[in-house]
Amino acid sequence: MENVILVLNAGSSSLKFSVFEAPADGEMRARAVGQVEGLGTAPHLKVKDGDGESIADVRWSTSEVASHAQALQQIATLLRSRFAGSVLAGVGHRVVHGGPDHAAPVLVTEEVIEELATLVPLAPLHQPHNLAAIRAVQEVQPELPQVACFDTAFHRSQDMVGQLYGLPYEYYERGVRRYGFHGLSYEYIAAILPTVAPEIASGRVVVAHLGSGASMCALRDGRSVGSSMGFTALDGLMMGTRPGNIDPGIVLYLIQQEGLSAKEIENLLYKRSGLLGLSGIGNDMRVLEASDAPRARLAIDHFVYRINRELGALTAVLGGLDALVFTAGIGENSMRIRQMVCQKAAAWSGIDLDAAANAGGGPRISRSGSRTSAWVVPTNEELMIARHTRKLLGI
Ligand code: ADP
Repeated sequence: MENVILVLNAGSSSLKFSVFEAPADGEMRARAVGQVEGLGTAPHLKVKDGDGESIADVRWSTSEVASHAQALQQIATLLRSRFAGSVLAGVGHRVVHGGPDHAAPVLVTEEVIEELATLVPLAPLHQPHNLAAIRAVQEVQPELPQVACFDTAFHRSQDMVGQLYGLPYEYYERGVRRYGFHGLSYEYIAAILPTVAPEIASGRVVVAHLGSGASMCALRDGRSVGSSMGFTALDGLMMGTRPGNIDPGIVLYLIQQEGLSAKEIENLLYKRSGLLGLSGIGNDMRVLEASDAPRARLAIDHFVYRINRELGALTAVLGGLDALVFTAGIGENSMRIRQMVCQKAAAWSGIDLDAAANAGGGPRISRSGSRTSAWVVPTNEELMIARHTRKLLGI
């Protein structure tokens, strides 16, 4: 019987999942991709098969499906009937924080769970849900192997100088350091570059992961040497609802002059800022691009400004730039943002955009003589997790 691997990505109000077939001798392929959204408000399950055809579309009341564990049970029932002829070999989880030491995925044990629980204060909005998903699987199938794949792990190749903050050293020792996130996405891109863009794979590359969360990573020879996100996923670029890097004095000002509580500041920084906060319209780039409102334009201009600024910083870290790679929702789909970024960076970076190639979606979107090349490479964090899981399970 064929082995399949379940990949889980548990967020605060959502549970995303994929089922990959894992043939003994070949690349894995997604056989089902789905998510439960609206957990706690209006739970809604949507599942598609590997070709994008809908398999299920179910809505529940919050009394029928109240928790991640109950959502998982519903998913398990559906998948058991769908994959009755297959063996579930293991589950791979996206876990946001692996702390300072995990530079690679690990097989989940009781000790690992306890260790990861100590990192909850570093990622209070995500880590508890990731761990709850691991526990939920344990309850249903205690013997099933589980693998934790960390968003921070890929960045552990960065040197210590780059991971420091200019705070008293004891804070570094207590874990206040730059961790970097979106590591599974960058690892996937680094792994696929030798195939899609062999001429840049071992060079100095900046990858721009532009989704609702957005960050950039400097790769040298496929390894992370710098990233725009730091201690938390609030740092760096402006995002859909997060401001990215701001003067920490603003936080003091909000506390001391405006009397905001920690919870209120958290809400402001995670949910009300970024494209949404600047535009006053929304956090969806498609909506902003279609809008004539001056503040939609302002939000887009600032988004691009910040990307260009971070690109300059990461280019300095790399000591030069051979290529810029766009990925994730905005990076893969927005011709306009790619064009604005490349035009802004053209004079100093030497990127010479090929408008027709950009309109066609790449992969290469710069002209052949361009001193620095530009690319569009779709990311696949789920496949990365499935690959790691298969490797650790030895199947
Ligand atoms: P996440 O995985 O972080 O939720 P995604 O990588 O799916 O995010 O990216 C979501 C973002 O991608 C949204 O801002 C959405 O508007 C944007 N996006 C998706 N398609 C397009 C498009 N065709 N043009 C512009 N932006 C797009």
